[in-house]
Amino acid sequence: MENIAFIALGSNLGNRYDTLIEAIKMLSSDPNIKLVNKSSVYETDPVGYTDQDLFLNMVIEVRTGLSANELLEKCLATELALGRKREIKWGPRTIDLDILTYNQENIETENLTIPHPRILERAFVMIPLIEIKPDLLLAGNEKPVIQHLNELPDKEGVRIWKRKSGEDVFEPIGS
Ligand code: ATP
Ligand code: CA
Ligand code: CA
Repeated sequence: MENIAFIALGSNLGNRYDTLIEAIKMLSSDPNIKLVNKSSVYETDPVGYTDQDLFLNMVIEVRTGLSANELLEKCLATELALGRKREIKWGPRTIDLDILTYNQENIETENLTIPHPRILERAFVMIPLIEIKPDLLLAGNEKPVIQHLNELPDKEGVRIWKRKSGEDVFEPIGS
């Protein structure tokens, strides 16, 4: 279980919160995946395809014995089990699981790009990620994620929805 990965979760169809929790349970029921940390849950305005309902988004950190490809397979199988269908690009979905990082690796294959190429431009990914790992360095980038915060567009589209209990959280609004 020597590898560390950060995974972004998003849902805007059905019972969004239950689906996020179910996805985390399914992932961590794999003997080769251990949940290390999770962010608060944020409600976010849709980006890209905007004529759809608000999302819930969060980020988790896992420790895993799986390869990056195996972890992707696990994520895709979990999406399918939770009713994910691919119809409209960036459209409504019961669950989306994106692997943001896998150790410090750069991976570029037909099915998998790591770090996920759109992390830095997405407030709905960056804000929960910075909440749990502000000093994370993306492979090929010399500044930790927290130092990219000021460059983020649409921060006001990301609002805390369910605070991680008992801990201070990063406050996106007004910062
Ligand atoms: P985006 O990638 O812009 O967030 P999306 O999540 O809506 O868009 P999907 O339809 O969920 O896109 O994914 C399409 C394919 O992306 C997946 O089948 C998977 O093979 C590929 N993919 C490439 N890199 C990654 C990654 N880091 N995490 C998850 N899937 C990835
Ligand atoms: Ca995605
Ligand atoms: Ca995806």
